[in-house]
Amino acid sequence: MRISRNLLWAAAFVVVGIVVGAFLVDDGTSVVPTATAAGGEVESPVGVAPDRYVYYPGTEELDKDEIRIIAAGTGMPGARRGQAATCFLVELGDGQKFLFDIGTGAMRNVQALMIPANYLTRVFLTHLHTDHWGDLATLWAGGWTAGRTVPLEVWGPSGSREDMGTKYAIENFMKAFNWDYMTRAVTINPVPGGITVHEFDYKGMNQVIYDEKGVKIRSWPTIHAGDGPVSYALEWNGYKVIIGGDTAPNKWEIEYGKDADLFVHEAFMTSDQMMNKYGQPAQLALRINFTFHTSAQSMGKIMSMTKPRHAVAYHFFNEADTRYPIYEGIREIYDGPLSMATDNMMWNITRNEITERMVISPDEAWDVEAGGAKLAPDPARKSEYTSFITNGTLDVTDVNKGWADAFMKENGLPADILEGDHKKDN
Ligand SMILES: [Zn+2]
Ligand SMILES: [Zn+2]
Repeated sequence: MRISRNLLWAAAFVVVGIVVGAFLVDDGTSVVPTATAAGGEVESPVGVAPDRYVYYPGTEELDKDEIRIIAAGTGMPGARRGQAATCFLVELGDGQKFLFDIGTGAMRNVQALMIPANYLTRVFLTHLHTDHWGDLATLWAGGWTAGRTVPLEVWGPSGSREDMGTKYAIENFMKAFNWDYMTRAVTINPVPGGITVHEFDYKGMNQVIYDEKGVKIRSWPTIHAGDGPVSYALEWNGYKVIIGGDTAPNKWEIEYGKDADLFVHEAFMTSDQMMNKYGQPAQLALRINFTFHTSAQSMGKIMSMTKPRHAVAYHFFNEADTRYPIYEGIREIYDGPLSMATDNMMWNITRNEITERMVISPDEAWDVEAGGAKLAPDPARKSEYTSFITNGTLDVTDVNKGWADAFMKENGLPADILEGDHKKDN
């Protein structure tokens, strides 16, 4: 559970060269640093601070009736080191976790949350533009090497034709990554390399496409670059979180988007920005805000009609230069609670409040094990080397013998474990 952020700096004053800082927490406790003689040091507390307005992954117990949503990607298809493409992680108080979209670059932020791969197995795709699923390969392979023991599951819409649907995309993803699959299946285990696809009808209107353990996920169509794209609503414990897919304004989001606690919706970069910063020709920069996407003003209109408890605008490169014209565009129409999303922004939803904070996560996070049984390699699978390659092996036994013998002894490995690897056929 989050600690209240209503921390007040109550007093800060200077007395004859001695700085005395005192702050009050909202239960009235005061922590008064001890002032020493003139010119001396001031002690400060060394315990746990009551609030730092930020989220350090793995340090916050979620209340049973609370939802945490983390933006792991909020940007555009063009790669940017500081902002990945669309991905939202929804964590429920009972521990269930759902990824909505997994756009290019987003796994760097997901990985930094240090959540074991076994808990990140359910992915819901709004549509098949790479800025919404370009990092599936990273979750797939990275989670596999990180010890995931089960296949991934991907939900996504059908299209107007078979080759425009999610099933086709995933089947051909598996074909494209066949070399990766075959080689990891030998060295690790084939099971985590599977992907189970759940394709549903993109035309379904507020249809339930997932219904398990108290969670219902619904979809409805959006209008974006062709038939297929959808928006999702996740319902749990009386809460409703909407992850809006790319879309031009449409009537369905007004109809099914009501009563949301959090409504994540695109507010696209302005046409000026698309032309002057993104390099689009004027005609496309204009059309993109009407025909495929939602302008800031349109997003404001949709939020003012659906009135969520809290609105989240995303799908723009969020920087000092760009965010204010978009913000002001939304504010021309909508005056309710609003976040201008960027990567690692997060929200906690309880009955009483919805808070926005930032995730502070490490640049160098390691995989975290979930515990439980690990999968052993399948002994029936062997690396598919021909002697053409293995005959090229250089014998380096002598320089490695010292550490390798010690390592084998320390870890109880049989002395002949390497025999047969890279064996020459002559
Ligand atoms: Zn798109
Ligand atoms: Zn997009």
